[in-house]
Amino acid sequence: MDRTVVVKVGAAASASVCVVFGGVALAQYLVAKKKRAGKKTRIIEMMPQFEKPTVHIRDPERVEQIICGLIKGGASKLQIITDFDMTISKFAINGKQCPTCHNIIDNCKLVTDECRQKLLQLRNKYYPIEIDPYLTIEDKYPFMVEWYFKAHSLLVEQRIEKDKLPEVVRESDVALREGYEQFFDRLHQHDVPVFIFSAGLGDVLEEVIRQAGVYHSNMKVVSNFMDFDDKGVLRGFKGDLIHVYNKHDGALRSTDYFKQLRDNSNIILLGDSMGDLTMADGVPNVENMLKIGFLNDRVDERLEKYMDSYDIVLVRDETLEVPNAILQKVL
Ligand code: C5P
Ligand code: MG
Repeated sequence: MDRTVVVKVGAAASASVCVVFGGVALAQYLVAKKKRAGKKTRIIEMMPQFEKPTVHIRDPERVEQIICGLIKGGASKLQIITDFDMTISKFAINGKQCPTCHNIIDNCKLVTDECRQKLLQLRNKYYPIEIDPYLTIEDKYPFMVEWYFKAHSLLVEQRIEKDKLPEVVRESDVALREGYEQFFDRLHQHDVPVFIFSAGLGDVLEEVIRQAGVYHSNMKVVSNFMDFDDKGVLRGFKGDLIHVYNKHDGALRSTDYFKQLRDNSNIILLGDSMGDLTMADGVPNVENMLKIGFLNDRVDERLEKYMDSYDIVLVRDETLEVPNAILQKVL
């Protein structure tokens, strides 16, 4: 064979070997890169609780950033601001709706059948307004005031006795979300302040958490407290009414409390209503706030709006697993 032909064939062969090896190396590099990309690097991806189908997040990157901020701040910077009815308490068990603080009284033996009927009629009229996805908060506001005024007047007429409340709570179907002991006990252990801000009935709420064994010294309840006469009979309610849609003045009502917590600039807010989103309004010095919303009722029509407003939405999730998983990382 001619020398130049031999050289050409040799060059062509070594070029194809290069192409083959180059191709293999490139493929290996791409596979390795893909593997690296598939590796779980986000904190929220490392928590199996976030994989539950009940968890809905519009912006995972934002949630990641907030949780990183909470972790960095640790226990000393954290505080919890939470709603009570249908947030700490369960919405339903096996499809059967659980009572709110008001319903515990509505359904108890201290109330006459006639009064119970009237309270039920009020609920049937006003609760659908409370959760209507198509009305604005401004539209709903006067109806809520009307509902509370009528219901509280009926309760006062019943001359409810303070002493009977523990028994009434014990006999009710109220239940707290799965994982509540872990939630409150961990917060207590780490001395994280918990502000329960409820448009329910304060006396009933306190009795529920006392009987559940989780009313610890790090907790403060702001709610509608009953006013009893010197014989212990209900004669009205103390202070200004708190209803579902006037929670924006919570910090104003508790100025001293929040002033003392100036350094607790990281907040986890828990709620189930669009009205709960304003619970931390006016809290001074907020660095990171994670809003977790429970969506219990009329889910399909409300999910989009909840996802726009709450960082994490838990749909028909009767547990505190997600908040507990976050607390485990932060504390
Ligand atoms: O603790 P929270 O702020 O959620 O308490 C308010 C709850 O009380 C709302 O879910 C509302 O539906 C309920 N409510 C009730 N009966 C009333 C007034 C309010 O069950 N008369
Ligand atoms: Mg609620």
